[in-house]
Amino acid sequence: MQTWPSHPVPRVPGAPRPLRLYDTATGEIRPTTPGATATMYVCGITPYDATHLGHAATYLAFDLVHRQWLDNGHEVHYVQNVTDVDDPLLERAARDHDDWVVLAMRETALFREDMAALRVLPPRDYLGAVESIPEIVEAVAKLLSDGVAYRADDEQYPDIYFDRLASGHFGSVSNYDEPTMLRYFAERGGDPDRPGKRHPLDAQLWRAARPGEPSWDGELGAGRPGWHVECSVIALNRLGMTFDVQGGGSDLIFPHHEFSAAHAESLTGQHPFARHYAHAGMIGLDGEKMSKSRGNLVFVSRLRADRVDMMGLRLGLLSGHYRTDRAWTSDVLDEALARVDRWRQAVARESGPPAEDTVARLRDHLADDLDTPQALRAVDAWAAAALAGDGSDPTAPALIRDALDALLGVALQPAAMP
Ligand code: ZN
Repeated sequence: MQTWPSHPVPRVPGAPRPLRLYDTATGEIRPTTPGATATMYVCGITPYDATHLGHAATYLAFDLVHRQWLDNGHEVHYVQNVTDVDDPLLERAARDHDDWVVLAMRETALFREDMAALRVLPPRDYLGAVESIPEIVEAVAKLLSDGVAYRADDEQYPDIYFDRLASGHFGSVSNYDEPTMLRYFAERGGDPDRPGKRHPLDAQLWRAARPGEPSWDGELGAGRPGWHVECSVIALNRLGMTFDVQGGGSDLIFPHHEFSAAHAESLTGQHPFARHYAHAGMIGLDGEKMSKSRGNLVFVSRLRADRVDMMGLRLGLLSGHYRTDRAWTSDVLDEALARVDRWRQAVARESGPPAEDTVARLRDHLADDLDTPQALRAVDAWAAAALAGDGSDPTAPALIRDALDALLGVALQPAAMP
């Protein structure tokens, strides 16, 4: 699948800081430890609706991980998927009398535009579920022949399920107890009550064809892939086992990331799937989580159509810490737009206070589990001093501009002087 356009990332003088990141599996902030090429997989969208601010906040958080690694001199191999065949997509297409393929193509195209407008660096590999079906079939067939997957006891629809305990590490990503797992499994697309399964928590690997649903023929029989194995196989076949960061929103901790890991660990006999499991908090609106079911979504494309400054939107989403669930309000956006305006004026000046310390603080805060609230305040302090006429370092505005571009992904075109 075609990815979105990239842009050059400036090199910033001074000493980079190795990134420390919270890991859900161990419950600790730990250093990331990439080799020459850092590796990251972030779960992509199911393209049945436009990108909302919750999605955008998640991809921005992992864009900062990408940028931290670049600053530290690593190449970055970033992989993302598009779940371009799944129940929510088919249900939406049926509801709107739309063709599911056309709906998926349209929303994926809009997502790419949104990501480019927000200056999110693109993945090197951007893979759809449909184009990945041959490799998913191969993996599911192996799990079946290894005896860790089984067919449901159902002659009409012999779906294939994964024995959750097969890897020996089930639960090591989320650390949830079984009642919690069962609750999230039911809430997040699982089928605990499906007759013919051996255990309510076993996850679907392959869904046998139903009338009116798309399906693909092959050695598993006509059907389509499950969601967790899709990500498992796409990541494994590009990054191998024990890649650096598996990322996504906190609603993916269970069952999605737990099962993606368990599938890959069963396929390879190795552990862990990823060194870090990193999760972004949810964005709420008016006190409620932003979600399709509540119908309270703010879409990036809507804000683009309203000519909202995307650098302001980016700063607004970065003004809270990525791991905290946080509220989106018009005040958050207004403050971010005012902030980006001040910064633009400050970097447009011919000189300012020496910026080396500010850049060092920016790096320190970002390397500390992406502490963007503190990072933004460090830039505020420099901008306030520059606008007050303090300092006469002619290299400072350009240094700040390059650091904001490279480390925060915020590009500031010089503003006209007032
Ligand atoms: Zn995924």
